[in-house]
Amino acid sequence: MKILVINCGSSSLKYQLFNMDTNEVMAKGLCERIGIEGSNLQHTAAGKDKVVIEAAMPTHDEAIKLVMDALVSPEYGVIKSVDEIDGVGHRVLHGSKYFSASCIVTDEVKDVVRKCFDLGPLHNPANLMGIEACERIMPGTPNVAVFDTAFHQTMPPKAYMYALPYEFYEKYDVRRYGFHGTSHRYVTQRAVAMLGGKAEGTKIITCHLGNGSSIAAVKDGKVIDTSMGLTPLAGFEMGTRCGDIDPAIVPYIMKKEGYTPDEMDTVMNKKSGILGVTGRSSDFRDVEEGMNQGDERCKLALDMFRYQIAKYIGSYYVALGGCDAVVFTAGIGENNSGHRAAICEYLKCFGMEIDPEKNAQRGKEIDFATENSKIRAFLIPTNEELMIAQDTKELLDK
Ligand code: AMP
Repeated sequence: MKILVINCGSSSLKYQLFNMDTNEVMAKGLCERIGIEGSNLQHTAAGKDKVVIEAAMPTHDEAIKLVMDALVSPEYGVIKSVDEIDGVGHRVLHGSKYFSASCIVTDEVKDVVRKCFDLGPLHNPANLMGIEACERIMPGTPNVAVFDTAFHQTMPPKAYMYALPYEFYEKYDVRRYGFHGTSHRYVTQRAVAMLGGKAEGTKIITCHLGNGSSIAAVKDGKVIDTSMGLTPLAGFEMGTRCGDIDPAIVPYIMKKEGYTPDEMDTVMNKKSGILGVTGRSSDFRDVEEGMNQGDERCKLALDMFRYQIAKYIGSYYVALGGCDAVVFTAGIGENNSGHRAAICEYLKCFGMEIDPEKNAQRGKEIDFATENSKIRAFLIPTNEELMIAQDTKELLDK
């Protein structure tokens, strides 16, 4: 079985074609600048060099057509005909309270994705555009929607409710949803396997640390709490997002600076986080370089990042009633042993003890805790695309 995985943004489209017999990626790529002048497709077939195809892509339909052409190209393609693709799995950001698992796309599913536009204004419309483009370009091939919010739907009300007037929950669905669910689910499955294979009885804290970051508390394989909220702005300091702040700061700064709601939203989503604190960069590598050169604000931004993460882990230790393993994943979690070590240093009070030599490795699954450690420390490279492909296969098999 061959499954195409698609992650659509408003002006971009990432794809991977999986051979589900081996779980191998046959080809992957990216369409950039859809709807903008100068669009191109970057396509890489497994074991071959990347090719860049400059072509006009006024809409996602042209982008999908170009992806199909690349996949069947005699020169750099990997299949003979698009009929070989058995299904398409789509990443969808917001499923609100309506989806607790992936599902085959129907008209009703699309209506609900549309209903969630308000909650995911930047992503959901683009996700739906990708689905509808595939329906037009590949009629008859089933589409599956995989939601970032779905894995967190097991949270109890005491974890997902905000202490606001109850009517906001009833009228506007204002509650915690959580994001990066596909990544948290993937690393949870891998962590359960590393702990012996039975989800029942396990207490795991998963840290997805990338440009956007979130942490989840997972008991018996099910999420009981997570750091992101109604939107992916909540939690701790990220590349450009502020994470949790005193909510009173919002009207205070709006009055002082004369910001509109949209301008304030932009400040918190795009101009805050390590970019805001350092005034230098949203990339953790640049900020680390700044810290190593003696820039105090870079040091402060990274100290804040590590401290806030440790506080989340501490609170989830209490929420779970203990912890078997802390998992680190995504760009920063997988690549930066310094952040992992600094965060684990805070966790010494729980009996966490790490082996610096093991922690220095990367690119593979590692348990970098010592034998005596009371909590395991796992580095697990995430694979959201494989998870989406597996969900798609499972639904099609049914
Ligand atoms: P992601 O969103 O998962 O792609 O992660 C992107 C983030 O990972 C960026 O902020 C990068 O700076 C960060 N990152 C990637 N490699 C490293 C590294 N070796 N050290 C620190 N941060 C890294």
